[in-house]
Amino acid sequence: MSFEAVIGLEVHVQLNTKTKIFCSCATSFGDEPNINVCPTCLGLPGALPVLNKEAVKKAISFGSAVDATINQDSIFARKNYFYPDLPKAYQISQFEKPIVANGKLIIEVDGKDKTINITRAHLEEDAGKNIHEDSYSKVDLNRACTPLLEIVSEPDMRSSDEAIAYLKKLHSIVRFIEISDANMQEGSFRCDANVSIRPLGDTKLYTRVEIKNLNSFKFIKKAIDYEIERQIDSWESGKYSEDICQETRLFDTQKGITRSMRDKEESADYRYFSDPDLLSVHIDDELMKEGINIKELPDEKLNRYINELKIKSDSAKVLTSSLEMANFFESMLEFGASVKNSTTWLINELLGRLRGEINLQNCGISPEGLAILVKRIDENKISGKSAKDLLDTMLERQSNDVDSLIKELGLEQVNDDSAIISSIDSILQANSDKIAEYKSGKDKLFGFFVGQVMKSTKGANPARVNELLRQKLDS
Ligand code: ADP
Ligand code: MG
Ligand code: ZN
Repeated sequence: MSFEAVIGLEVHVQLNTKTKIFCSCATSFGDEPNINVCPTCLGLPGALPVLNKEAVKKAISFGSAVDATINQDSIFARKNYFYPDLPKAYQISQFEKPIVANGKLIIEVDGKDKTINITRAHLEEDAGKNIHEDSYSKVDLNRACTPLLEIVSEPDMRSSDEAIAYLKKLHSIVRFIEISDANMQEGSFRCDANVSIRPLGDTKLYTRVEIKNLNSFKFIKKAIDYEIERQIDSWESGKYSEDICQETRLFDTQKGITRSMRDKEESADYRYFSDPDLLSVHIDDELMKEGINIKELPDEKLNRYINELKIKSDSAKVLTSSLEMANFFESMLEFGASVKNSTTWLINELLGRLRGEINLQNCGISPEGLAILVKRIDENKISGKSAKDLLDTMLERQSNDVDSLIKELGLEQVNDDSAIISSIDSILQANSDKIAEYKSGKDKLFGFFVGQVMKSTKGANPARVNELLRQKLDS
């Protein structure tokens, strides 16, 4: 029997507001523990939450970016559970009437487009962090009450590859519309994967297992693949109904397996009720207008690069693969570098030289530096070959001082005809025997002459050298 996997994803995106969702404490990451706290986010009795308007705007922005319905009226609910990093013993979230509903996004897998439906996206507050050290467990509440957008997909994905394509697309959208830094290491973009299997052709949904808190694409893929295999094995050995139950599992990144954490709670377990401390949210037309996304989406940028800038589709995909890359590229164009050479020099030359931990952000080359290098090529001031040496030196010295380096390294291309001609004359004079051989049919010697001229001029424009040499020899 063959099976198919059924995958639905819940993604928590930390919104990049300056302050928390229900109080005015800072949301900065990595501060000393428990300094960004106040009575509200500490859950002290009597403290009242006040909704941060910016968080609502960012939710609207997301909704409009994925063609969703934005509910003008929504409500906040209390989701009750006890955990040490949740001081109020309830999380303020949305249950009925989330702010965003019925969206979609298009992924591409193996060259084919597929639509993944987004059930809902709602606003909620994050919990604090438990830190386990030696025999202690400590609680840091800096993160408590930080705004999250929880984005829940329909169970529309059929493989870990589709799941990863969906997550990458989502990641890129929230970065492009600038509602989150989506830094996965810092937990600003984390995913719970729901996985079930079913016999191919069957349309009903089988028992799902939820794998919690995955925060790297690599581990998400491994966790999903492991889980699919575990469920299929269990079916094939006749133990499916015994083994597979609705539960929450954790992925052990060391061993590469998932492990049961707890029985999955049902929504009734949370005793949801609407939070009496908060008004229902009404988005008026003005707020709606302020929130609607006007930034260029990843696909829109890709299409513009292909259709307007005439960049080949493969390169355009690389250039729009992250916001940093696209911004770097566009900034080069603003400094006046040509589209064609900027594309090649960013993708093939600069990215091609970056290894390991070194990336576009920390390599020391600025968009302006690379743009000026490209402009000097555009202007024929340096040859492509010299530019390669130049870029090596720029990286080595972490310098963007292009014009000084060109001088220092003597890379300036000789475009001046008189300099090329005088070099040609002296080379030909010194090799009169070879001229005779060339004239009697030894064509290969042309390359020899070009080489000699290039050497003596230290990098004349090769096209011009060829042309002038041809004229001289044929005259
Ligand atoms: P909960 O918070 O209880 O996990 P949600 O409704 O927030 O519930 O999320 C449920 C997720 O599980 C959704 O992404 C949904 O698409 C997915 N899902 C539901 N049923 C299945 C199933 N049988 N197999 C795989 N995924 C499923
Ligand atoms: Mg879930
Ligand atoms: Zn606070």
